[in-house]
Formats: sequence, structure tokens, C-alpha cells
Amino acid sequence: MSGPPASPVRTRIAPSPTGFLHLGTARTALYSWAFARHHGGQFILRIEDTDVARSTAEATGQIIEAMRWLGLDWDEGPFFQMQRLARYHEVVEQMIGAGTAYRCWCTPEELDAMREAQRARGEKTRYDGRWRPAPGKVLPEPPAGVQPVVRFANPPSGVVRWDDLVKGPIAIDNEEIDDLIILRPAPEGATADGAFGVPTYNFAVVVDDLDMRITHVYRGDEHINNTPWQINIFRALGAQPPQYGHCPIILGDDGLKLSKRRGAVSVTAYRDLGYLPEAMLNYLARLGWSHGDEELFSREQMVHWFDGSHLARSPAQWDPAKLAWVNAQWLRRADDARLAALVGDQLAGRGVVAGDGTVLARACALFKDRCTTVVELADWAAMLRAEVQPRPEDLATHLTEAARAGLRDLRERLAAVEWTAPAIAAAMQQTLAAHRLRMPQLAPALRVLVCGRTQTPSIDAVLALFDRDTVLGRLAAA
Ligand code: GLU
Repeated sequence: MSGPPASPVRTRIAPSPTGFLHLGTARTALYSWAFARHHGGQFILRIEDTDVARSTAEATGQIIEAMRWLGLDWDEGPFFQMQRLARYHEVVEQMIGAGTAYRCWCTPEELDAMREAQRARGEKTRYDGRWRPAPGKVLPEPPAGVQPVVRFANPPSGVVRWDDLVKGPIAIDNEEIDDLIILRPAPEGATADGAFGVPTYNFAVVVDDLDMRITHVYRGDEHINNTPWQINIFRALGAQPPQYGHCPIILGDDGLKLSKRRGAVSVTAYRDLGYLPEAMLNYLARLGWSHGDEELFSREQMVHWFDGSHLARSPAQWDPAKLAWVNAQWLRRADDARLAALVGDQLAGRGVVAGDGTVLARACALFKDRCTTVVELADWAAMLRAEVQPRPEDLATHLTEAARAGLRDLRERLAAVEWTAPAIAAAMQQTLAAHRLRMPQLAPALRVLVCGRTQTPSIDAVLALFDRDTVLGRLAAA
């Protein structure tokens, strides 16, 4: 894209609440949000809940929670399509009046027979326009007891073209597409005014994008085939369609479409696995967009850079190892008090009392360099607060007679020293000297008994994080 857009930029994300916020949707939400923020425009959240049978309040709640967690703040909404039915009905009536939509009384059986006959003739299956009004055409008599649907009178010929923000010029022939159903009779109980019906996706999306004055739509490329209908409906309403950008799908690390069956695909699942929102945003952004060679960038940098250019045209592959790397980098940069709160939540989830936040923050500072996720950080912090279970083989290897004697002595010294890393280090040196031991003969045994593991950062600094009584208690096993 060249130059800033003329009108104030208004973008939206329009998830259907039939499940959690999918990673692909989170990515297009991010692009839409960043594009709006970059241009000083507005970002809108719309919940497309017209699939009444599959939409749930729980999914809506999860979507909103995921958006908040990612920090993709919206300026307007959430709007709910099921609260806008009167508006869709109004537009449908207007279109019927203008001849750009019409009622169709075909029964499912008739439609089946129509398709069957087309297949038998070797034709593409499509609605044959039997209820579409035309000058001089005599329409059938509406059958009694059948609720009509409303169809859009798609232009019968011509080509729909748009310059896709991601994929470049796209052209689809109107002969390829038929008269789409835009309104269906409401399923029992679906609407307050059930007589009128529920709009279908392609229609509601246009009325909403029009009413909400959306200027740019970023969405998944599974919607490319819907776009000609949407552009045609916009034009039928005498309005200018927004600019569309279709992002390629995300492939799993096995090269197949990312799906529930292949790894976690909800955004909040990654929160629960200990990923930071800034890392998720960074990783999702790079999955289909680039700014030079930058691999690590903040939300602010992304907003600064994201002008809609450099979006990838081909599918990106989900790479768990890269996501872990990005997360580790952000973990290192994260504020320790904030990490302590996140670790505290993790510990609470394990039934472990987190205790003093400042100690936890010091622990985060000490351990975060060697962690990939908040969960790993919590694994470290947990040893400060909950029993550790040294592995029998570690005990057998490191808890030699000489080490045990040294640890008993060290325990007595530690009972008396000031509880700081330098004083603990000095007590260790005195123990080594008194027992003619070298550090590698004592430290692993100390680590195994107190920390339950053989490797830690500098052991004096680690011990200083513990309550003295906890250390003395664990060393009593020496
Ligand atoms: N509700 C649609 C979806 O979740 C929105 C598509 C669009 O952005 O137009 O796929």
C-alpha cells in the first residue's frame, strides 16, 4: 500500500462465538487493530452470533477474555448481530422493494431435486433462479405453509474485481456464483420477532460493515469466495465496499491446516501454558508479516510499523520452537514484579501458597533467564514453597559420606549466619575448608537436598531466596 488512506480508518474483528478465539482470528484481529492504531483510526469488536444453534455465551466470554489478555483494545462494541435483527429486516425490505432481493419458497426437497437434475446434466449445481422476478416472467404461486427465504439477486454477468490488500488483484465471474440466501426463517425461539428470520453471514456482514463504516477488512482467505457476494450487496445498497485483505491460513508444524486436533489453537490455552501476551502478539504478527529482519518487537513498534504492507501471500507454518524462543526473550525483558504475580497465579493453581511477593520477584529475576514459560518459572518458584522430591539416583550419586558430613556442618553454620547470599557463601567456604572439600563435592548434594535438582543458578543466591527454616529442615536429611 502506498500513502495513508484518505478516510479515517475503521477496522473490525468479527468472530463467531462458536468456539474459543482461534489463533488465525487472533492474528487478523492483531493486523486489524495495528492498522487502525497505526493510522489513528478505530477498531471495532463485533460478535457474529447469527448461527444460533452453535453460538454460546461462554464462547463470547472466552473471545472477549482472549482479546483483553492480548491487549487488543477496541474502541466500539462488542456489537452483537442478534441484537441488530430489526436493522437487517429493514435492509431486506428495502432491497426487496428495490428488486435486488426476492422471496423464494423452494422447499429443501425442491432444491435437492434441482441439484440432482443439474448433476444428471453434468452442470454445476446452483440455484436456478426460479423465484427471481424478471420483466414479463410469471412467478409460481407461493405454496401454503412454507416460510420463504430471501435471496440476493446477484448480477447475472460481469466480473467482480478487487485489489486485495494481501493477495493483489482478484477477479471472480458473477456466473460462478448464484443467488445467495440472505435471510432464513428463524428457527423456533431464535428471534423475538420470529416471523422475520435470521440473516446469513454474507448479508449481515455487509450491513454491519456498512453501518459501522468499516474501511479495511483483514480476515482469513477462506472468505475470498464470499467477497464477490459482499461486494455485490454493497453495490446493490448503493455503497462503496471496504478494502479487503485476505490472509493465508496458518499451517501446523506438520504442514496441514492448524486445527484443534493438531496442538492447542486457542489463544488462552497459550496463556495457561505460560506464554506472555506480548510474545504471542510478536509471534502472531511475524507469522504472515515482516518488518525487515526484525524478530522481536513490542506492540508499540508494531503499531509504528504496521501500514498494511509486507503481509505474506503464502501460508505461514506454526513453529512451536520459535514461539518458545520469542517467549523466552520476552520473559527476560519482563518486569519481575509482574512475573511474580503471574507465577503466584500459577502456584495458586497448584494449591501452593505463593507467599511474599518481593521474594517471588527476586526468584523471577534469578530464574527467568533459564526459562521459556511462566510455567517453568513457577516450577522453579515452587521449590521455595512446596516439598521437593529429589530423584533417588541424584541422591545416590551426590549424597556421598563426605558430602553429608559437610552438609551437616554447613547446616549448623547456616543456622547462625545473617540470611544473605554473601553470608551464605562465606559459610559454604568455611565448610569446604573445614572438611577439605571442593565445591563440586558439596554443591550438587546441597542442590539436590534443598532444591530437588542438580543444576541451579549460583547456590548462595538461590538459598537466600528460601526461608532459613526450610533450608535447615531439608538439610536435616543429610
Ligand atoms: N464471523 C466470520 C468468521 O469468524 C467473520 C469473517 C469476516 O471477518 O468477515 O469467520
